[in-house]
Amino acid sequence: MQHSCTNFVFMGIIRKTKAVNTVLQIFKGNNEAKSVVYLIDLLNDKMNKTTVYRILDRLERDGIIHSFNGKDGLKWYANCEDCSLSHHSDKHPHFQCTECDKVECLSVEIKIPSIKNHKVDSSDILLIGKCEACYV
Ligand SMILES: [Zn+2]
Ligand SMILES: [Zn+2]
Ligand SMILES: [Zn+2]
Repeated sequence: MQHSCTNFVFMGIIRKTKAVNTVLQIFKGNNEAKSVVYLIDLLNDKMNKTTVYRILDRLERDGIIHSFNGKDGLKWYANCEDCSLSHHSDKHPHFQCTECDKVECLSVEIKIPSIKNHKVDSSDILLIGKCEACYV
């Protein structure tokens, strides 16, 4: 009795980790952002929409990926660099290509002006234009 119970919990953890890993794998090693629509479509045969949302939420809370709004209010996700469990330090701008719709994190720093009587916690800067592949 005790044994089968432990086993059940164990299997649950394995399954959850596998789904999380599948999502992590998509972001690994690049600074290209993925839209929610793209991710749901890509993972369609592996997990349902709700699971995708839940995993993205969790990874964002854990400081592994960050989200921002692209053109038309679409939500995008990308890898974090130096974020921690409790704090996101992503202050970089994002770039969206009008030709191929590619969205990337730019590793440039944008100076946030100090505004009187205001405390800035985060910024969401989207630059729109043509990416390297479409411009050259
Ligand atoms: Zn972050
Ligand atoms: Zn492009
Ligand atoms: Zn980014």
